[in-house]
Amino acid sequence: MAKKTIASVDVKGKTVLMRVDFNVPQDDSGNITDDRRIRMAMPTIQHVIKNGGKVVLMSHLGRPEGKDRAADAKYTIKPCADRLGKLLGKPVKFVGDCVGPEVQKAVASLQAGEVLLIENVRFYEAEQIKDKKAKDDPALAEKKKSFAKQLADLADVYVNDAFGTCHRDNASMLTVPQQMGGKPKVVGFLVKKELEYLGDSLNSPKRPFVAILGGKKVSDKIGVIEALLKKCDTILIGGAMQYTFMLAQGRKTGKSLVEADKVEEAKRLLQLGGSKLKLPVDVVCAAELKAGVATKVVEGDIPDDLSGFDIGPKTVAEYKKIIAGAKTIAWNGPMGVFETKPFDTGTYAIAHALVDATARGAVTVIGGGDSAAAIEQAGLTDKVSHVSTGGGASLEFMEGKAFKAVDVLDEA
Ligand code: AMP
Repeated sequence: MAKKTIASVDVKGKTVLMRVDFNVPQDDSGNITDDRRIRMAMPTIQHVIKNGGKVVLMSHLGRPEGKDRAADAKYTIKPCADRLGKLLGKPVKFVGDCVGPEVQKAVASLQAGEVLLIENVRFYEAEQIKDKKAKDDPALAEKKKSFAKQLADLADVYVNDAFGTCHRDNASMLTVPQQMGGKPKVVGFLVKKELEYLGDSLNSPKRPFVAILGGKKVSDKIGVIEALLKKCDTILIGGAMQYTFMLAQGRKTGKSLVEADKVEEAKRLLQLGGSKLKLPVDVVCAAELKAGVATKVVEGDIPDDLSGFDIGPKTVAEYKKIIAGAKTIAWNGPMGVFETKPFDTGTYAIAHALVDATARGAVTVIGGGDSAAAIEQAGLTDKVSHVSTGGGASLEFMEGKAFKAVDVLDEA
């Protein structure tokens, strides 16, 4: 069922507490090296500003221990306030806590159209208490609830625009909306777009529907392969996980990365998938993983002294042909070790094939994580239908897992 969005709430004069995902990468000096997550939240923030609301933003950043503030100081979210201010072209206020009297004062003094970012919610252990643990421990449950209640009491409206965290039951994601009582709790425009692309367009796809799955481990993607086999017409496999499938077929994989304990699982998936599940016909191998190293394209068994680091040219050609005939394409996980040249070739060939498919009207959805990073590095983000901001979240969503943090929000 569709969720109510911020567009249907009258925010004039109201305090809008918005959970965003400002978990941005930073260098050693704390400089933000990629602000895409901040930029993606801007349409919702600007909507509230334009309509006379007061914006209170909250997010996690990194993994502070939640015990010692001084040790955790590098996880302050203040740099995100500065960057957002620059992007919005107006100052963004910041308060060095996320609950307590200082925060209440800062929120109370907000004027319509102003924006305040509160400190990293992970400075409090309560943020990450799992409901499963809290169920058997009343003290933990109370700790999480009272933390969430303090946040909920700051606002008239709750907005979830943090797709990357939607698969978690963190206090700011689930317990805060639970504590909002009858007040509106809705999705922002980013989460709406994510739900539409990862949900609607993949659940009722225009056919043929092709999924491309790569990355390191088959174990991470067993659930998603099973779920997609029920929905799509073809699954193209790449990345290191192909070698576990090769083992399952009784082929030799040389020194390639394999998950020996997942061979039986891979056999089962091969049987389940039949002709729907396509494996590479050739791989680019090398003796070691090093930029510019001598490579050899191998079909069939991989020699003992070589590892496969990318899909080969015949595979690229075959996969491109299948992609060219598809009307819906979902991609998650790189085809090879795209961080090291020349093993980026397969991944970028697939990225360009998706761009071409988008140009002729196909719906193209890229799951977060490394395939999103690859498409961004190639400057192609705007040339596909949707690049998800959620790595783990996009995989879990495609698997069909329920997201409590979304379910708890108001229905449209
Ligand atoms: P994942 O997080 O599962 O999407 O995996 C992404 C990682 O898989 C990237 O860092 C890639 O370098 C790595 N990867 C892809 N193909 C291979 C391969 N053939 N051998 C080793 N690592 C690979």
